[in-house]
Amino acid sequence: MSKPTFSILLLLIFCSTTFAQQYSNYFSDEACRIDFYFCGNAKTTTASIDKIIQEPFWGGRRSNLSGDMNLGQYRFQVLDSASNQLIYTDEFSTLYFEWQSTPEALLINKGFEQTIQFPYPQKSVKVIIEKRVDFSNWETLTQFGFSPDDKLIRRTKPLAVPVKTICKTAEPEKAIDIAVIAEGYTAKQRAKFFRDAQKLADNLFTHEPFIKYKSRINIYAIAAMSVDTGVSMPQKGNWRNSALGSHYYTFYSDRYLTTPNMFTVRDYAALVPYDAIYILANTKTYGGGGIFNFYTLASADSKRAQTEVTVHEFGHSFAGLADEYFYDNDALNGMYDIKDEPWEPNITTLVKFNAKWKNSLPVGTQIPTELTDENKVKIGVFEGGGYLKNGIYRPYFDCRMRTNTAKGFCPVCEKAVENRIKFLTE
Ligand SMILES: [Zn+2]
Repeated sequence: MSKPTFSILLLLIFCSTTFAQQYSNYFSDEACRIDFYFCGNAKTTTASIDKIIQEPFWGGRRSNLSGDMNLGQYRFQVLDSASNQLIYTDEFSTLYFEWQSTPEALLINKGFEQTIQFPYPQKSVKVIIEKRVDFSNWETLTQFGFSPDDKLIRRTKPLAVPVKTICKTAEPEKAIDIAVIAEGYTAKQRAKFFRDAQKLADNLFTHEPFIKYKSRINIYAIAAMSVDTGVSMPQKGNWRNSALGSHYYTFYSDRYLTTPNMFTVRDYAALVPYDAIYILANTKTYGGGGIFNFYTLASADSKRAQTEVTVHEFGHSFAGLADEYFYDNDALNGMYDIKDEPWEPNITTLVKFNAKWKNSLPVGTQIPTELTDENKVKIGVFEGGGYLKNGIYRPYFDCRMRTNTAKGFCPVCEKAVENRIKFLTE
């Protein structure tokens, strides 16, 4: 055998190994969901499995299966048991992690519902759930194996709830599929929910890069029905019986609207293929929340800045963008350690600035950048962001991730959203 032929043979072997990692070799068209609990306090975290569920649709990516974007506070890896090869990974953040930086977490232990989803495996797999240690390192919280034929994997029918397609322009494997779930809408308010979901879609498509990638975004409205209208406001002693149990006053913060009932949220989302969950709350009260690869929750009828809140919160949950604002005495102002580089693409402590937007800075930019009129329209390194006045820097004077009056995402955030869209669809 001559040398060139041997090289071609090697190349063929390499290609066939790459091919072996393809979706259809390991996964079916269904989804595998794992429900578990994050438990602990300010200093400790454990993960305990609750149940495994086979769901009808996989809406996530079918390429870049073992790739990641180094986002999120947690990640999980799925390994083929026989070969120990990594066949899928995903990253996410949690309400539990935010709670860990509140004063309450110094006093008591709590448990939070958490769910991960990946394509349903054809053969036995091992799942490893990991917690971020710092910008580059992870530690294992738990690992376990299971066979896809296990009789105790739940295979119940999804909930019987009306679903309307708001827009569908591409097949789920080539699109970002957003599951919009109704919260605080009674049976009589179903038509209003579908109108509100359409409004949400219209709002999203007022911002780049969502306009540019409109042909890759599908939106479905899932009409979960609530006994009471609206959502709970514990600060006023007002509790409502709503489908997902959402409430304001999360961590005693007036405008912070979340639900702890992640398993219920996923039960509704399972009616469609999805990459992202957007919970639409039937209330006029300003507020919301968005956590990376977890969910967005925002009010449908807030007159104040509805478009802005929709897009801001989706920036968190879809692309892992950080808040670029900072207030004195913020409930979350202990969330970032300024000695470490945060993973969010739009803030930096300058510890690992090379991994952020350093390459996008105009030549000669001062670090930190002074807030002059001239610099307000350039990418820079402006002090203040991530709930801290000092020690954390943001890339632009103003951005959708900082204020409701900004024109849109800053160039760094826009690029981060675009990268995420491409990662999930190409
Ligand atoms: Zn920004």
